[in-house]
Amino acid sequence: RDPGAKTRITVLGATGSIGQSLADLIQRNPDSYEVVALVANRNAAGLADMAKALKTGSALLAEETCYPELKERLAGSGIATGAGEAAVLEAVTQDTDIVVGAIVGSAGLKPTMAAIRPGRRIALANKECLVCAGDLFMAKIRATEAELLPVDSEHNAIFQVFETDKADMVEKVILTASGGPFRSVSKADMAGVTPQQALKHPNWDMGARITIDSATMMNKGFEVIEASHLFPVAHDQLGVLVHPQSTVHGLVQYKDGSLLAQLGSPDMRTPIAHCLAFPRRMNVPVKRLDLAELGTLTFEAPDLDRFPALRLALEAMRAGGMAPAVLNAADEVAVDAFLKGRIGFMDIPAAIEEVLDAMGAGGKLTDAAGVEDVLAIDAEARQKTGEWIRTR
Ligand code: NAD
Ligand code: MG
Repeated sequence: RDPGAKTRITVLGATGSIGQSLADLIQRNPDSYEVVALVANRNAAGLADMAKALKTGSALLAEETCYPELKERLAGSGIATGAGEAAVLEAVTQDTDIVVGAIVGSAGLKPTMAAIRPGRRIALANKECLVCAGDLFMAKIRATEAELLPVDSEHNAIFQVFETDKADMVEKVILTASGGPFRSVSKADMAGVTPQQALKHPNWDMGARITIDSATMMNKGFEVIEASHLFPVAHDQLGVLVHPQSTVHGLVQYKDGSLLAQLGSPDMRTPIAHCLAFPRRMNVPVKRLDLAELGTLTFEAPDLDRFPALRLALEAMRAGGMAPAVLNAADEVAVDAFLKGRIGFMDIPAAIEEVLDAMGAGGKLTDAAGVEDVLAIDAEARQKTGEWIRTR
């Protein structure tokens, strides 16, 4: 391709929090990027507006019942439309340079995996791909020689300071965690928190599911599993550090005693821009860190007793096989039930633990041979979690 040509981008999960931060960057750099396709679930109005603003080639919804509205809103725009799983999977086959994987949940598994092709860059926000099917996902990345760049801020930070050519000299990889809105709340008080309280993240503005996962610290557990696939380190070399200011995003400790970190304002446009421009950098109008104004950065060890979700995630990682897929599916269902007021906050880890114990007993959660295995386990875990919730 012409070296001056624009970089082509396909976005999976365009209307979400990550999708909107990405759209902001694309709109600020119209000479560098063009959008091939935008995919969302059911938000026809949001997708149509974004499609027009970004002048995308096509706009697709996963949910077919929402298609008539999308079609009507984009009539006469020259933008191709489509809906349904087959249309989404077809859209990722179109020529493109970067696919941004920003669907939420295990729903992102199939389309993101299908997007892995030779010569492409996958900018991955959907951590569920690595949590639920990390071995399969990484195997396909290696087999196709596609390029995988992490959008998740902690992993992007670690990627920026991880000296790949000296991986044998890495001692520890550390992910920071804000600790969420209940960082210093007692277990007894956490049992009574409402969805509104849990949805108020102190530092980051994100989608509902990941915001609740941050409040339980399940998100950090997912991220440790994610890191175990992204970086060539053993499980016991991965650490979590609670850092309420969300300023230091990730650290790598080397055998010579050096500790390298990436710092920045908590704004996802920085890691997304890093993935788009890599190995160059992009101008991004995020708030600059003023360390003198901040004055103090604090750090503390995570509390696995008050945050059992983090403990469950670490256990699932060590158990291996499809235990992390069960962990994620049970969490998706439990978080949804919490948001709908059906269960309490501390019921989220309780439900997950029961389902993991029931499904993992006797080493039943073996390695997945393919994505279909993962989706079958995912469905079973969802059903079992649903049952647990109904008997509450
Ligand atoms: P969100 O809920 O704001 O948006 C989710 C997007 O996925 C929407 O565009 C929705 O339409 C789409 N979607 C949902 N189901 C779909 C389906 N079946 N098919 C196609 N599209 C579907 O979520 P988010 O906060 O943007 O997070 C997206 C992913 O990025 C998650 O995996 C999350 O863990 C990860 N992530 C997000 C942040 C953040 O700051 N928001 C940071 C790190 C990682
Ligand atoms: Mg993160």
